[in-house]
Amino acid sequence: MNAEVIAVGSELLLGQITNTNARFLSNHLAELGINVYYHTVVGDNPDRLEDAIKIAENRADLILFTGGLGPTKDDLTKESIAGHLNTTLEMNEEALDSIVAYFERAGRPMTENNKKQALVLKDSDILVNYNGMAPGMMYKKAECVYILLPGPPKEMEPMFQFEAKPKLAHLLNKEDVILSHVLRFYGIGEAELEDRLHHILDKQSNPTIAPLAADGEVTLRITAKTNTTEEAWQLINGAKDEILDLVGQYLYGYDNDSLASKSIELLKKQDKTISAAESLTAGLFQSELASVSGASAVLAGGVITYNEEMKVHQLGLSAELLAEYGVVSEQTALAMAEAVRDKFKTDISVSLTGAAGPDGHGDQPAGTIWIGIATERGTQSYRLQLSGMRNTNRLRAVKLALHYVIR
Ligand code: ATP
Ligand code: MG
Repeated sequence: MNAEVIAVGSELLLGQITNTNARFLSNHLAELGINVYYHTVVGDNPDRLEDAIKIAENRADLILFTGGLGPTKDDLTKESIAGHLNTTLEMNEEALDSIVAYFERAGRPMTENNKKQALVLKDSDILVNYNGMAPGMMYKKAECVYILLPGPPKEMEPMFQFEAKPKLAHLLNKEDVILSHVLRFYGIGEAELEDRLHHILDKQSNPTIAPLAADGEVTLRITAKTNTTEEAWQLINGAKDEILDLVGQYLYGYDNDSLASKSIELLKKQDKTISAAESLTAGLFQSELASVSGASAVLAGGVITYNEEMKVHQLGLSAELLAEYGVVSEQTALAMAEAVRDKFKTDISVSLTGAAGPDGHGDQPAGTIWIGIATERGTQSYRLQLSGMRNTNRLRAVKLALHYVIR
């Protein structure tokens, strides 16, 4: 089965929002073993939408639409599809009841155009919307399956995952088990990883192995398709062993792990606490740790000392040291890490200082970053020279610092 995703919405074409729905759907369709050959984006225009449907029908046997199921005039996806497929829309009583109930709960009067959201394609399977009002639909005609999903990701994503995906899996083949396992690497580039694994990647078929690089991390998604869960895990584990034999030293986690979650996990296990003094990243490092549930068990807090004055006042750094070596220097990074460890009485502390770019800082070129890590055993410093855009460099610095914490 091969699929096309049609994202409907003029705001996508205007560049006001990013088409994250297509990304999400492609990821999940890959897990089902469905190939996605095309992503289409079309504005809220019935003629151009119909053109897009005609083209998609010629090259896909599954078409997924997102957007345009809402109550307003520009929401016309299901109307266009009904017209094109020569079918009608009918009121779905259950959907209507839940819309009425939604307005009652919110204590707001329901306007007439909201009823429109309960209209569904005649003879379609309803996909329940647990996070909004407009139901989704799955409709089969001739050789093609049409799936209609709402635009807002918080409605679309759970609807696809819990309503549409099982129906699709059933349609494909009840017997198939498709399992995915993600290996997460840090400290090795995508090109080098692919180079070291080339003979494994070249011969892959089942399981498939898909590399992906983002924010300095590389992941490999191993996907197996067989008859039983045990067999699928056997295939996955076989590939995993081969991969880890070659690049195991760079592995930091699996599936939904992140550098932050692994840091928290490790510190908890060691019964250690952490604090940070942030210049360059202005709180981003602590924010990344705090995104993990249970972070308060290990994260004490820290200081944002962005200008020189605050490095002196908040951390007690000496003005002479800053004048002699500069803010972006090994000496400043070491002193910041030690000072915050002292102030917050933690086992470990991290400091980040640098020139995020695009301009350099004093005689330090853009992208020069110093990270300090203070522990009871002493203080280490690390120098990085990054070449990305300002915020990419800041995020990279955070990830590297987390990497040093778990290493
Ligand atoms: P609503 O009932 O909210 O009007 P809808 O199904 O009619 O939902 P749209 O009106 O097309 O959907 O889009 C509503 C919002 O959903 C957009 O403003 C945007 O924030 C988000 N959205 C729509 N399409 C996408 C997409 N492809 N990727 C990410 N977000 C999207
Ligand atoms: Mg809308």
